[in-house]
Amino acid sequence: MIQIDLTGQVAVVTGGSSGIGFATAELFLQAGASVAICGRDAGRLARAGSDLRERFPQAQLLAARCDVLDAGEVAAFAGEVQARFGRADMLVNNAGQGRVSTFADTTDEAWREELDLKYFSIIRPTRAFLPMLRSAAKQGKGTGNAAIVCVNSLLALQPEPHMVATSSARAGVLSLIKSLAGELAPEQIRVNSILIGIVESGQWRRRYEADTNAQAAGQSWQDWTSELARKKHIPLGRFGRPEEAAQALFYLATSLSSYTTGSHIDVSGGVARHV
Ligand code: NDP
Repeated sequence: MIQIDLTGQVAVVTGGSSGIGFATAELFLQAGASVAICGRDAGRLARAGSDLRERFPQAQLLAARCDVLDAGEVAAFAGEVQARFGRADMLVNNAGQGRVSTFADTTDEAWREELDLKYFSIIRPTRAFLPMLRSAAKQGKGTGNAAIVCVNSLLALQPEPHMVATSSARAGVLSLIKSLAGELAPEQIRVNSILIGIVESGQWRRRYEADTNAQAAGQSWQDWTSELARKKHIPLGRFGRPEEAAQALFYLATSLSSYTTGSHIDVSGGVARHV
C-alpha cells in the first residue's frame, strides 16, 4: 500500500457522522490530516466525534452541526473550519440520501426536494469552501493537493425507474461536476466523483430495521443484504462496505490522483452494464 502523509492538510467531509462519510474521515485521520465533519443530528455527530477521538487520540477533529441545504449554516461551518484550522485542502461532498419513488408517485414537491438536495449539497459547500481551496492550491504549486470529490451514484449513468428523481438528479450532478472541473482546473483545483452502487450504511440499516417481514422472520442483517445483493444481480455478490467507497474518495481527494480531474470511479461491485 502506498503511504501518503497528509500532515498539515485539512479535509472537510460533509455528512461525516455516519456510513461512507465517517469511513472517509477515518482514512484522512489515519493519514495525519486534520478533519472537519458535519451533519444535522447533534447526537449522531457527537457519537461520531467521540468514536473518532477514541480511535485517534491525537486527532485534529472538528465535528460541527450543519445542514448542507442551509446556506447560512454552510457558511458558518466554513467559518469554523477557517477559525480552527486556517485552511481546507480537500472537500468531500458526501451528505445526502436517496429517494425511492416512481414517476407515478413523485409529486412536484418531491421532485423539487430531490433536485434541491442533490444539487445544493454540492453547490453550497463548494461555494463556501472555494476561497480556502484556492489558497491551498496556490500554496501546493501544482501538487494536486486541492480537490473536491463528490459522492454520486451509478444511477447517474444507469437510471432505475423505482428511483426516478434520484437517478435524474444524479445524471445532472455528473454534468455539474464536469463543468466545475473545467472551470477550476486552471486554478489547480481538481473535481471528481465516485459512482456507487449499494453500500452498507446508515440508510440501508434503517431500511432493514423498517422491513417488518425481515424483522418478523428474525432475518439477520447479513442474510438480508445477501438476499438483496442476489435479487439485484450484483456481480460481486454483496453490498459494498463504507471503507471501500472511502478508499476511492481518498484516492481522488489526495495527490495520489494529481493528474485526474473531471472524472469518476465506479464502486458498484460490477453492476454497470456499459463498456
Ligand atoms: P448514511 O445515512 O450512513 O450517512 C449520511 C450522512 O449524511 C450522515 O452523516 C447524515 O447525518 C448526513 N446528512 C444527510 N443529509 C444531510 C444534510 N442535509 N446536511 C448535512 N448532513 C446530512 O448514508 P451513506 O453513507 O450511504 O450516504 C452517503 C452518501 O452516499 C449520500 O449522499 C447518499 O445519497 C450516497 N449514496 C449512498 C448509497 C448507498 O447504497 N449507501 C447509494 C448511492 C448514493 P444527519 O442525518 O445527522 O444529517
